[in-house]
Amino acid sequence: MHLGTYHSTHGRNHAFKLSHLLLTCAHSMHLGSFPFKMLLLPLCTRPSLRITLSKPSLVTTSIAGIGNNKSSSSSLSFQISRASSISTVSTAKEDAVMAQDGPNNQHPVQVAKHLEKFKTTIFTQMSSLAIQHGAINLGQGFPNFDGPEFVKEAAIQAIKDGKNQYARGYGVPDLNSAVAARFQKDTGLVVDPEKEITVTSGCTEAIAATILGLINPGDEVILFAPFYDSYEATLSMAGAKITCITLRPPDFAVPIDELKSAISKDTRAILMNTPHNPTGKMFTREELNQIASLCIENDVLVFSDEVYDKLTFEMDHISIASLPGMYERTVTLNSLGKTFSLTGWKIGWAIAPPHLIWGVKQAHSYLTFATSTPMQFAAAAALRAPDSYYEELRKDYKAKKDILVEGLKDVGFTVYPSSGTYFVVVDHTRFGLADDISFCEYLIKEVGVVAIPTSVFYLNPNDGKNLVRFTFCKDEETLRSAVGRMKERLKGKLCN
Ligand code: GLN
Repeated sequence: MHLGTYHSTHGRNHAFKLSHLLLTCAHSMHLGSFPFKMLLLPLCTRPSLRITLSKPSLVTTSIAGIGNNKSSSSSLSFQISRASSISTVSTAKEDAVMAQDGPNNQHPVQVAKHLEKFKTTIFTQMSSLAIQHGAINLGQGFPNFDGPEFVKEAAIQAIKDGKNQYARGYGVPDLNSAVAARFQKDTGLVVDPEKEITVTSGCTEAIAATILGLINPGDEVILFAPFYDSYEATLSMAGAKITCITLRPPDFAVPIDELKSAISKDTRAILMNTPHNPTGKMFTREELNQIASLCIENDVLVFSDEVYDKLTFEMDHISIASLPGMYERTVTLNSLGKTFSLTGWKIGWAIAPPHLIWGVKQAHSYLTFATSTPMQFAAAAALRAPDSYYEELRKDYKAKKDILVEGLKDVGFTVYPSSGTYFVVVDHTRFGLADDISFCEYLIKEVGVVAIPTSVFYLNPNDGKNLVRFTFCKDEETLRSAVGRMKERLKGKLCN
């Protein structure tokens, strides 16, 4: 099977495509063991590199997601003509050209129109770069410490007890009840666990099921930028029309007049997130009241992503569903991962009145049908944690946040206040780099720390060019080392 020559002569930022391509190929050639991948990764950024992999007997199937795999030779060769790192803005056309140019024009990238413009997610890219450069990863938001023993024990027990077949599609009864009880405790709202909750594979699936289940092509959906990357991609898959309202530093307040004028007769929903990733902003009661009145007045739905609701430092979280007249028009989305430091478990849920949860449940039924059974039982045990668990969590995170925020200030960043989440956004411009991408590249290569460039969270990337996001969901020693590296290797670059 001849897999063609990959020849990149285009702008920067192709190393990831390349590394992805190499790793995907290695994987489909059953060469995907960890050590083998580790060998490939550093190769991917070398300029003018030609790699030939030949393993004829093992190349029997397709290269996932690439081309139509009709060729029959058994060698794989890539020619890489320049190095690059972070990929954010190139278009699908450029991708297609990249995959097509060179002597073998047999395997054009194939992707549906609605996904053409999207890149490998920034989180995947930055975590790979962290490994490649041995940098401290304050980019992707996953804890480098484990979740609580009692939750892990509950998962092991569920597996041993034989809870291993398909779960009921919308959630095992025990979890639906635990979610309802938690929601009542948090918001005062009493919901029917059987009729108003759908359990999903993480909140990202809950968001997708909500959008695909309730949005028609052409419907307008309002987003607040910066926004979590899956929102735009999923809305695009649904054929929605996106209207964006930009939240601006220093306080990222909702520009309510802009929101008012953005609402039209075609506006179907506002997709919001509080506490807010990436800024750490929490929507105030006043802002939520204003959004609520606009929604009621204009018959607009709210999809509210509240996955960081337990990571709050300056104020209490408010679910917009709990405001008068809002429950009937709100889908509240949440998950286990952040609260229990188990981001890999992918257990999430949507809560909404029966007339709205129906669409969500239908989309979920045909997307994934059901979610991991034993993990749902463990999630139910987790949600029954005593109040002391949540207090401790907040205390631990507050200490981590202080280390990072004070450290970043000492280094010379302008640090914007973060009231919730485990993220903090800073202005990097005092260090003299052109934009967030160049700054993050410099930070990885010269300082050994990974942050997330925020321009990927805007419809207009320019809006985020001064801002980068750091996470503090790491142990204190890691945070101190990262701050240490920045003091040592970055402080000297301060321009004013
Ligand atoms: N929510 C996580 C973050 O913002 C990333 C999740 C992901 O990698 N898709 O860092």
